Amino acid sequence: MDNCIFCKIAKGEIPSNKVYEDDDLLVFHDLEPQAPVHVLMIPKKHIPSLNGLMEEDQALAGKLLVKVKEVAELLGLENGYRLVVNCGEDGLQTVLHLHLHILGKRKMTWPPG
Ligand code: AMP
Ligand code: ZN
Repeated sequence: MDNCIFCKIAKGEIPSNKVYEDDDLLVFHDLEPQAPVHVLMIPKKHIPSLNGLMEEDQALAGKLLVKVKEVAELLGLENGYRLVVNCGEDGLQTVLHLHLHILGKRKMTWPPG
């Protein structure tokens, strides 16, 4: 996607504060952190949202989830964390490239503000 900000980050066309990267995914710090640790995990492939995941993306989707604990360990989130995936208008998704928010280093109250 030409005009997608997270595709540009994945390609290195826009700078980001990277935490982890491999062939399929990238993790970087959120620009407006909502917790002392707040990173975004994205597939490098442009998938607009959770609703855009297709049968052929099963391995990629599984890889994203399995990687979360590794990233959490890297970030020192041994006390736990929250994983958030906003989807669509009511989910208040603002960037239309699938991303997982990993938040931690504070008590993640519920419901979120
Ligand atoms: P969402 O509301 O779930 O779509 O989340 C989008 C997130 O992307 C927000 O938390 C923004 O702060 C974050 N964000 C937007 N642009 C950037 C950027 N260039 N680098 C890092 N985080 C960003
Ligand atoms: Zn994209």
